[in-house]
Amino acid sequence: MGIVVQKYGGSSLADADAIKRVARRIVDVKKSGHDVVVAVSAMGDTTDDLLDLANGVSPLPPAREMDMLLTAGERISMSLVAMAISDLGFTARSFTGSQAGVITDSVHGKAKIIDVTPGRITQAIGEGHIVIVAGFQGVSQDTKEITTLGRGGTDTTAVALAAALEADVCEIYTDVDGVFTADPRIVPTARKLDQVSYEEMLELAACGAKILHLRCVEYGRRYGIPIHVRSSFSQLHGTWVVNDPAAASEGETMEQPIIAGVAHDRSEAKITVVGVPDKVGEAARIFEALADAQINLDMIVQNVSAAATSLTDISFTLPRTDGQTAMTALARIQAEVGYDKLLYDDKIGKVSLIGAGMRSHPGITSKFFGALASAGVNIGMISTSEIRISVVVDENAVDDAVRATHTAFDLDADEVEAVVYGGTGR
Ligand code: ADP
Ligand code: ASP
Ligand code: MG
Repeated sequence: MGIVVQKYGGSSLADADAIKRVARRIVDVKKSGHDVVVAVSAMGDTTDDLLDLANGVSPLPPAREMDMLLTAGERISMSLVAMAISDLGFTARSFTGSQAGVITDSVHGKAKIIDVTPGRITQAIGEGHIVIVAGFQGVSQDTKEITTLGRGGTDTTAVALAAALEADVCEIYTDVDGVFTADPRIVPTARKLDQVSYEEMLELAACGAKILHLRCVEYGRRYGIPIHVRSSFSQLHGTWVVNDPAAASEGETMEQPIIAGVAHDRSEAKITVVGVPDKVGEAARIFEALADAQINLDMIVQNVSAAATSLTDISFTLPRTDGQTAMTALARIQAEVGYDKLLYDDKIGKVSLIGAGMRSHPGITSKFFGALASAGVNIGMISTSEIRISVVVDENAVDDAVRATHTAFDLDADEVEAVVYGGTGR
């Protein structure tokens, strides 16, 4: 029988009892004849607690040391899970990301996996062990330093392992029953999707649905690894992230629903560069400075310049965690660019409507904006792709905006089926 790769998130490993429960699940798979490789996250809110601790010690901790600190969280759970498994009469070997052969680039805090060389994993499997790998971490090819993959990165560790080990499926165990039409913590009437395409899941993840790490979905699509998102607290089937959901449903010809779901994101901030001279090359200089600082931008809006002054404003959104770095990088080029000032706003949220069916259905935008208007939500910025419409709103309006949109597109289930089994939602 083949290799099964599983991932257990922090909410599934919150305390000693939870770890024992997860160990029993893992052992059951081994008993059924499969080889098992498991990627684990840090217990409960450990990563947030470690971040708070670091920020209590230093206002801007060095990125290298931050990675050394945060990777400790996953090392704690990997060894505890291995201990619990040995108590059940099976042997497990735990490995750090580096030991497991997870090779990354050298960008601390958001490293990308460039290769997985799972020699020690396959050797341990060959010796009959269950393998537990610390998620969210790797080692840089160039600097040999320990790196982390960004928040939620254990999902990506799991899918990368599944690809390297040629597993048939990667199971992502979490604290809800699958991918829903909205975050069940905000919309209790959200509906579980039995299947969702990589394409839609990419947009959902990119727009803040933290049920899956964005790069894990990219990885899954590139290597053709079906991802099964399900609860570690129930035996229910979850959501399959696959190439073509319609084809996967046993030849049934069912029409794709227009909307896959509504996602929200409270992790971004907005920077406005006020009074940029409206001439060739200014925008390039601004965005070059941000690229050099390794900052990923999201929405970008440039206003039409005022005729009287020939000055324009450029606004963009970015991860809040990069806010300080971006402001510093931009301040450095103020004289060169000749802009007036910088404004920083982190009291924003983003709400996105996602669905492949949008391509062929006019009127989606007007219905979305109409729902926001009826809920009294003001729109700050707008961006669209072929299968997505996103708006920036006030941080406090996010929940209302998500619920109103979910209802307007008839996504509410008749009965509440969205159970949240654990986690603090932090
Ligand atoms: P884990 O600790 O298992 O990695 P996360 O907290 O990272 O869990 O992700 C699971 C959470 O994602 C859920 O508890 C839920 O609040 C949130 N979530 C956001 N959007 C969705 C969605 N569309 N469907 C399901 N869960 C979602
Ligand atoms: N522990 C890390 C985090 O909280 C990685 C993960 O959970 O996937 O972001
Ligand atoms: Mg997660």
